[in-house]
Amino acid sequence: MNNEEKKIKLLLELKKRGIKDKRILNSIETIERGVFLDGIFRSRSLDDIPLPINCGQTISQPSIVAMMTEKLEVTRRCKVLEIGTGSGYQTAILSKLARRVYTIERHENLKNKAENLLNQHGFKNITTFLGDGSLGIEEQAPFDRIIITAAAEDIPQILLQQLKIGGIMVLPVGLPQSDQTLIKVRKEATQITYDEIAKVRFVPLVEGIALQ
Ligand code: SAH
Repeated sequence: MNNEEKKIKLLLELKKRGIKDKRILNSIETIERGVFLDGIFRSRSLDDIPLPINCGQTISQPSIVAMMTEKLEVTRRCKVLEIGTGSGYQTAILSKLARRVYTIERHENLKNKAENLLNQHGFKNITTFLGDGSLGIEEQAPFDRIIITAAAEDIPQILLQQLKIGGIMVLPVGLPQSDQTLIKVRKEATQITYDEIAKVRFVPLVEGIALQ
């Protein structure tokens, strides 16, 4: 199968899995996942599987990226906070849909690499930070949307505080090395609602900045 055929297959797979938002399908079609991968893994970039990146981390599988992005209901007006920049692939997708994206990574090596790649490819509405994402960014809060691409054992309360009223947060919750639950949180004026979306497996959300 050539790359064009692989891409068509991937997009069909996403549609079969219920992804309807044309903007998301279009972003997956146009943003080359391979540029966020190294060496031998590049040739698998159009397969719907997670793949290794540096620092023992993984790039999520395209159908999970699409599902999380769809559940996040991102619009052009949204200021989005992403925790776990990793390769920068999910960040790039968000950048296409949102007004502004703030993204935090705890590995300096990954942060720098993603920042360079995103700059090189002309993404202009992204700010990358080195830090512990579970603390959010006080100076930029509140956010319209928050997405966490690493699994927390509980919903980080500081992030919930930094979410706007009417805002949405999507995150995997659960223990490392076990099935986790992808959750959509809606913060309303009088209540917070939680919806379970799917069973997933993510690398863990880890406290503090990583030592090099
Ligand atoms: N969205 C990324 C997923 C990368 S895996 C991609 O598609 O490439 C999750 C990332 O979260 C890893 O890079 C990991 O280092 C990072 N991470 C884990 N805990 C974190 C924390 N507390 N703050 C910031 N980043 C964190």
